[in-house]
Amino acid sequence: MNEPKKTNLLALTRAEMQAFFESLGEHSYRAHQVMKWIHHHGVVDFAYMTDLSKALRVRLAEVACVQTPEIALQHFSQDGTRKWVLKLDAANAIETVFIPDGKRGTLCVSSQVGCALDCRFCSTGKQGFQRDLSVAEIIAQVFVAQQSFGPLDNLGQRPITNVVFMGMGEPLLNFEAVVKAAQVMLDDLGYGLSKRRVTISTSGIVPAIDRLAETVDLSLAISLHAPDDALRTQLVPVNAKYPLKSLMASCRNYLACYSERKRITMEYVMLEGVNDTAQQARQLVTLLQGVPCKVNLIPFNPFPHAPYRRSRPAQVERFQKILLGAGLFASVRKTRGDDIDAACGQLVGQVVDRTRRQAQWQAQIPVQTLV
Ligand code: SAH
Ligand code: SF4
Repeated sequence: MNEPKKTNLLALTRAEMQAFFESLGEHSYRAHQVMKWIHHHGVVDFAYMTDLSKALRVRLAEVACVQTPEIALQHFSQDGTRKWVLKLDAANAIETVFIPDGKRGTLCVSSQVGCALDCRFCSTGKQGFQRDLSVAEIIAQVFVAQQSFGPLDNLGQRPITNVVFMGMGEPLLNFEAVVKAAQVMLDDLGYGLSKRRVTISTSGIVPAIDRLAETVDLSLAISLHAPDDALRTQLVPVNAKYPLKSLMASCRNYLACYSERKRITMEYVMLEGVNDTAQQARQLVTLLQGVPCKVNLIPFNPFPHAPYRRSRPAQVERFQKILLGAGLFASVRKTRGDDIDAACGQLVGQVVDRTRRQAQWQAQIPVQTLV
């Protein structure tokens, strides 16, 4: 006979954790203690949760667990960037990257195994799609990264100050799990991040942006990449379903829902001769009129058989100047972690594609268990 499934406490929001303890006939305050043990101290074995009674520790071991995926690979780069490959099951792995920059430490997390949206410049998209990540699998990425620095108590300041959903997958197509995981990231009993410092990046799933607007207050980034529908549909095929007019309306609505939301980030990967001309910069200015935003120009990260090249720095500068001249905020993203293939758009993990599309050149990352 199968053993009853244990509840993985890593996945629970504060409200769910309280309900869980109440269901055991315990005071809901136990939720506070256990969340701190897990997320602040990195303790996964109930036996070490010393401020709980012995009886409760034994009971928890029977009905619950704190389970994280196996770390298949971890790599710490010379510039401080850290990357993990987490093995989810026999066939699938995901990547998570930590990028330090002065006092800021940004963790880039994945939300799905692969991605079904097939953007032409994205190596994750080229791998196809396998499945959504669970809440536990999303939170585990923060847990593992935090643990690589040691328990919070021993650290002067939190190494992870920002989380961006810019790893593998389209976060808004895994809505419930992403929102719950974000709630744990924002919770003081979880990772205590400010809502301005947790960013969901989306290719533009309009109905989900509208739903997000009213569900949780987070920062939003849109993967824009083109100033007109024809080009955007080529680069980001989901644009055919949710064209720019509806996307811009949805962005304005997102900002209007909470007065503290000041602006949206517009991501724009610079592709030589494709979307980087002066005329396209001017078109972009027109498109973004009336949408408070900042434009982040991203150097394209090449991958094998990619059909594009990175724009030349002078071209990027020219493009940026036109945006700045029109009064827009516009920055150029630094590339980091190139030496360990950890830059954005290079997160590939291992995906068994369940869509009909088959990437012939599917990247193979060696999965080795660390000693
Ligand atoms: N699916 C979401 C989040 C993951 S992609 C989205 O599309 O927004 C995270 C960011 O990396 C997006 O802005 C995406 O456009 C960008 N990106 C993808 N491939 C890239 C590449 N090869 N070089 C640079 N940025 C890339
Ligand atoms: Fe998916 Fe984002 Fe890559 Fe597009 S850019 S294929 S939405 S991960």
